[in-house]
Amino acid sequence: MSLLPIHLLGDPILREETIPVTEFTDELRTLVDDMFETMYAASGIGLAAPQVGRRERLAVVDVEGAKYAIINPEIVLAEGKARAEEACLSFPDVYGTVERATRVIVQAQDVNGTPFEVEATDLLARCFQHEIDHLHGKLFIDYLSYLKRRAALAEWEELRKQYTGNIRHLKPGAPELVDPEHPEAGM
Ligand SMILES: [Zn+2]
Repeated sequence: MSLLPIHLLGDPILREETIPVTEFTDELRTLVDDMFETMYAASGIGLAAPQVGRRERLAVVDVEGAKYAIINPEIVLAEGKARAEEACLSFPDVYGTVERATRVIVQAQDVNGTPFEVEATDLLARCFQHEIDHLHGKLFIDYLSYLKRRAALAEWEELRKQYTGNIRHLKPGAPELVDPEHPEAGM
């Protein structure tokens, strides 16, 4: 397995529509394995293909051991609303409060192409919504008010200076520490 570079806000791929997966190959399974490894190395709870520079419609999540690769996912039911802080692995250290459904049912395919359905609540439901947004070029900052989005983008303009070429390279070994003031993991 290998760690994949994470593509950062500013890279156009984060705003592009993904392409449905039609072939469930060994290459696809390797991509999924690499995405899990990359997500864990970044201390994240979710990671979508565009965040590693790929166009396949797929994402991985692991919320407290609830671990899923969701391929061609769709939300078929969403209910309830709650606001909570989110962070994104594609613009680390920027936070924003986003309203999301508290319960969702997601239909997707697994790495072998077998359809499945998963019901999720609370953080897992939030993570699914965040990742499925990524698969359609949408980011959590899009939900912020004009002023809050402007502040978040200004913050990112400063933070991004530590990276070169909109790419974040993770180091193998110990996962990156989660900021104690913002224990929400990135996704
Ligand atoms: Zn994200």
